[in-house]
Amino acid sequence: MSARFRIGIDLGGTKIEGAAVDVSGLMRVRRRVATPVQNYRATIDAIIALIGCIEQEIGATASLGIGVPGAVSPKTGLIKNANSTWLNGRPLQRDIETALGRPTRLANDANCFALSEATDGAGAGIDAVFGVILGTGVGGGIAIRGQILVGANAIAGEWGHNPLPWPTPDEIPGPPCYCGRSGCIERFLSGPGFTADHYCHCGESLSAPQIARTAESGDPDCGGLSGISTLYEQVPRLWTRYIFSDRAVTRLLPPVHGDSSGVRGAAWLWRPEEAP
Ligand SMILES: [Zn+2]
Repeated sequence: MSARFRIGIDLGGTKIEGAAVDVSGLMRVRRRVATPVQNYRATIDAIIALIGCIEQEIGATASLGIGVPGAVSPKTGLIKNANSTWLNGRPLQRDIETALGRPTRLANDANCFALSEATDGAGAGIDAVFGVILGTGVGGGIAIRGQILVGANAIAGEWGHNPLPWPTPDEIPGPPCYCGRSGCIERFLSGPGFTADHYCHCGESLSAPQIARTAESGDPDCGGLSGISTLYEQVPRLWTRYIFSDRAVTRLLPPVHGDSSGVRGAAWLWRPEEAP
């Protein structure tokens, strides 16, 4: 029996990564190329070339899923909310399908992360998974029983541009945000937000990983905020007092797949039985 492959593409602002994942979840081939910044046509050509290269290596045609920054508008099918702004307003899915001559599935990259962890990562076997992204921005995605919850506006799970809950007086109105409001969660919990808040309170300019290292005075390799191990102990200890329930059994877990979540989640946009 020939192996069935699913290809996942993670379209990032600086690199496009692609991987072929086999039926057992193993990544057989993984390739990356630089993103042709500000050039839509060249971005499509790069994705098509990457797929061709991967399929040549695996010697098979695979299903294709693509994780994109931003969202696919349910109304128009055009990309919106992408910080890779040259994608906004473009019919990316249609253009890729036309170039390839076969169906392709697109999803927001945070949703791909949630799907990856819900399928065979930290949230495997759990009914409802909220994938939290704390990086240059604050984002997230929701997977319910192994399926992405897109939502009517295609922004389900995006929690970064809501106000900080129960702010202290010095956190009001909060720093201005590019979305047009002030005091958004992203202005506090993103890497840049964390740095700015630390500077306000301590007068020293440190990156988020430096602050984490200082706070933790332990792991010198501690990377992004998801690498701060004390978060996984302290937050569940604190959240019971804020959750409107007699008990909170929610688990807060670090991601299993790390940097591979984008390509894995994109690959999982097709179920195994749908792979050619
Ligand atoms: Zn905002």
